[in-house]
Amino acid sequence: MHILVTNDDGVQAPGILALAQAMRQLGQVTVFAPDRNWSASGHVKTLERPLRVHETLLADGTTAFTSDGAPSDCVALPLLGFVDKVDLVVSGINPYSNIGYDVTYSGTVTAAMEAVIAGVPGIAFSLASQDKPANIPTDYGPAAQAARRVAQKVLEGDLSEGVVLNVNIPYLSLEAMQGITVTRQGLRVYRDALDRRVDPRGRPYYWIGGEAPTGVDEEGTDVGALLAGYVSVTPLQLDLTHYKALDVLKSWEWKI
Ligand code: MN
Repeated sequence: MHILVTNDDGVQAPGILALAQAMRQLGQVTVFAPDRNWSASGHVKTLERPLRVHETLLADGTTAFTSDGAPSDCVALPLLGFVDKVDLVVSGINPYSNIGYDVTYSGTVTAAMEAVIAGVPGIAFSLASQDKPANIPTDYGPAAQAARRVAQKVLEGDLSEGVVLNVNIPYLSLEAMQGITVTRQGLRVYRDALDRRVDPRGRPYYWIGGEAPTGVDEEGTDVGALLAGYVSVTPLQLDLTHYKALDVLKSWEWKI
């Protein structure tokens, strides 16, 4: 079993090391991740410049590949033949949850989507560490164990083609986690606000600031599962067609 491990936080982020170590218990692991943080970069394909690949060492002394491309590039290169056949792509562990509409922004999730486009199962792992006190360092240990269990299920199961698994893990010890539950996307509530400032030369510049997003606590959703202490497994598809709208739109009279 050959597992490709990537992320959107950069190859030296602690979350990918924990994930790689957990995946080594399931098979041969190749780590291939961006050389910098691409969080909230969405789905990227680098076309207008060459991509460079370098070897680097992770904090545990193991070898990893890194590139100046986006997370999805770091999946595309290996799957296009930079390494031997890959059976599973895992992405993360992102330090913050990716729930609801976050999946469209998330580099963690779009890396898993890139795998699925190439016909390889892809799983994104995110840890809701925003729920812990900011002054304590993030412990990825329990999340890595939960990730291993989910990955093992996928390797044993027969997940149909085209399914991306978006996994969100509560910031709890393994014992405190309530279990693993299958969910649908919930509703994120963004509280973005435009912050206009003026630079030393008198020109305005802008930050998209505001409060951290919240979510609608609804049973059966990723938001609700995390709040209830469950590991949330959401199957996503890349077909974004709004099927209910098809009939409405077809009933309109279209003329050119
Ligand atoms: Mn990230």
